[in-house]
Amino acid sequence: RAKSLGRGRHALFDEDMHLRALNRLAVESDLRRAVERDEFEVLFQPIVSLDDQRVVAVEALARWLHPERGLLSPAEFIPVAEETGLIVPLGRLVLQRIVATLGDWRRELGPERVPRVSVNVSRVQLRHPDFVASVRELVADPQVASHLNLEITESVVVQDAATEGRALDDLVDLGLHLHVDDFGTGYSSLATLHEMPISTLKIDRSFITGLGGRRDTTEVIRAIVALGHNLDMEIVAEGIETEEQLAAIQALGCDLGQGYLFARPLPAGHLMDRLHQEV
Ligand code: C2E
Ligand code: MG
Ligand code: MG
Ligand code: MG
Repeated sequence: RAKSLGRGRHALFDEDMHLRALNRLAVESDLRRAVERDEFEVLFQPIVSLDDQRVVAVEALARWLHPERGLLSPAEFIPVAEETGLIVPLGRLVLQRIVATLGDWRRELGPERVPRVSVNVSRVQLRHPDFVASVRELVADPQVASHLNLEITESVVVQDAATEGRALDDLVDLGLHLHVDDFGTGYSSLATLHEMPISTLKIDRSFITGLGGRRDTTEVIRAIVALGHNLDMEIVAEGIETEEQLAAIQALGCDLGQGYLFARPLPAGHLMDRLHQEV
């Protein structure tokens, strides 16, 4: 079949591959420099209690402040960072920034009003042999550790549960909380879910978007809420954009919500202003 496409098509394909490889290389060397110079911003998106819409936690979301290309979103650099292993030093920079920010908020707001911070951790980071040690070093203060949630995706929970499971247990022993991100899109078995020290499930945004749609997701969300609550987990609905979605999510018994309806990801200072207004 490949032959019938002809020589021209074949050359074009090669050229395309070549360009993509070149682009990858360019991004990689750019990213290497960015990690050395710490060109990253960390934004914080509120996670609110659905009872009173108070901010109980925030999710830290990385941005790359590229000197020529401006502010880049994770989709443009996290995949390359994961493929090249640069996610390891990048993740450390993000965590350092979070720990410093927690200190600022503690001084500014007082310890009782400091929200917990959720940080995304990819499988590449979790598998790295020094990951637990580097987290331990950065969050030596137990007050800091107990304010951190690690968000891992469902696929991390499933695959290689033995290796990564040990790291996760160690992190929970340090006082960190474990959240499963994008829940419902992977294939975690009930057995693994229940064996892991997970405190929270975040229902994937696609299920919130699907509410009231042609293939309505109401019953899927209801089932996830029942499962999580039966396992003593809290449920977060992510990607809430409309009042209708909020009403539906509340009726389904979710505990917490995150989405543009409440707030976009904000710089640390703006988030603090918002917390100040919340008295
Ligand atoms: P995620 O962990 O599932 O984060 C939620 C994403 O949904 C964020 O995208 C957030 O800005 C977006 N979002 C929140 N509310 C809404 C909403 O109402 N509507 C819509 N359409 N989107 C909403 P973002 O910031 O682009 O991050 C994308 C992904 O990149 C994250 O998905 C996470 O997997 C990854 N990521 C971000 N920062 C880091 C990091 O520091 N380390 C690692 N390993 N991954 C990161
Ligand atoms: Mg997340
Ligand atoms: Mg998510
Ligand atoms: Mg996601």
